[in-house]
Amino acid sequence: MEQESISKNIAIVGAGASGGFAAILLAKNPYNNIVLFDIKQPFSTLLPTGGGRCNISFDEKDVKEFVKNYPRGEKFLLSVFSRFGVDKTRSLFKDLGVSTYIQDDKRIFPTSNSSVDVIRQLTSHLRVSNVSIKKELVKDIKKKQNGFEIITEKKSYFFDYVVIATGGRGNGFDFAEKLGHKIIEKKPSLSALDISEKFIYSLSGLTFKSVRAKAVFMKKKYNVEGDLLFTHKSISGPLIFKISALSAYDDFTKENPLEIALCLTDSSIDCVENAIKNNSKKSIKNVFSMFAPESYINAVLQEYNIDANKQIAQIKKKEKEVLIDALFNLKIHATGRIKDSEIVTAGGVDLNEINSKTMESKLVNGLYFIGEVMNIDAFTGGFNLQSCWSTAFICSISI
Ligand SMILES: Cc1cc2nc3c(=O)[nH]c(=O)nc-3n(C[C@H](O)[C@H](O)[C@H](O)COP(=O)(O)OP(=O)(O)OC[C@H]3O[C@@H](n4cnc5c(N)ncnc54)[C@H](O)[C@@H]3O)c2cc1C
Repeated sequence: MEQESISKNIAIVGAGASGGFAAILLAKNPYNNIVLFDIKQPFSTLLPTGGGRCNISFDEKDVKEFVKNYPRGEKFLLSVFSRFGVDKTRSLFKDLGVSTYIQDDKRIFPTSNSSVDVIRQLTSHLRVSNVSIKKELVKDIKKKQNGFEIITEKKSYFFDYVVIATGGRGNGFDFAEKLGHKIIEKKPSLSALDISEKFIYSLSGLTFKSVRAKAVFMKKKYNVEGDLLFTHKSISGPLIFKISALSAYDDFTKENPLEIALCLTDSSIDCVENAIKNNSKKSIKNVFSMFAPESYINAVLQEYNIDANKQIAQIKKKEKEVLIDALFNLKIHATGRIKDSEIVTAGGVDLNEINSKTMESKLVNGLYFIGEVMNIDAFTGGFNLQSCWSTAFICSISI
């Protein structure tokens, strides 16, 4: 029997990564009429991603491993990624004119290495007759008997379905709350951290690869690994972003800091001991610089008033302990997060109130949530965008 196709009027609030992507996919059905609301150009939030290269995703085939990168959303995303994961995303992007490649560290980028190019390609698919882009800020969303009223700064509209895709900084949380949803408290995530140890301030620009860290706050412990970057008065880089994401709800302060112990070398203590024994005529600075950048060793020597040019044979027990600790167990204290440095927002619409098989609200029929407005956030590496692509896809096949 032939199925009757029903025309659907769909509003998407927010034309960022998830909203724009959902519009492209929903527009494939000619019976859908889509209105995309945003005061910004579609996909413009992609511009700074991946340092201008747009880190689209991460090449991990095992979904159970993949979801471990989401401090919030891990369980919810399991079924989402099982249905629309990395490979399907890459293949769909290819169909949309964005071919991708996998970098050595498994992060996935467009072949053009350009977020401008990704924006251009994706935007071209919005120039179809059944998508209308309205440069209007949505002020309110009201549930009506057979649909929704959307009130913008200019006028009001009526729709059968509404998709809220306002990201971590928009006011979609307020709309969701007014429509009866619980909002998990919002917190900055993936931020640089303020550090109280002043001697690291001189190391701005210095990076360490594959650092292992143990962070402790109250009784909570986080073990992480990643690259570390010293910046002016703070520390940053993937390692610190991981710590900041895991500790997003820990309110550490000057009085009650988060302690971070860093292992800054991949050598062993035995290697250092041997170097000390076998290079007795070399200076302390030269021997320890075999295991970490000289600028770092100099900063430690200066901080602890150790004579850099003294022969290693003359090193005192206490001095050796300080330097070994500086390599294997440097203890620093995070007193807060650098304001406005966050890349994503932890918290958002409670996932218990969203159906992971459809992205539809369990409380309001016809209302959908996708992207960062939900209580989903991830480490760096392409995971935040992947959850946008996947939730947008699931929503698009469910409406
Ligand atoms: C500097 C930076 C770099 C990043 N790099 C990466 C990366 O390389 N890889 C990765 O995976 N993730 C990255 N992220 C995170 C990623 O960009 C976000 O997780 C993602 O964009 C979230 O998508 P979204 O669709 O939920 O929201 P957004 O992309 O933020 O889009 C939300 C849109 O909604 C609009 N909006 C909000 N409220 C309203 C309203 N009331 N009416 C109308 N429109 C409204 C906004 O104007 C915005 O355009 C980065 C983030 C930043 C800040």
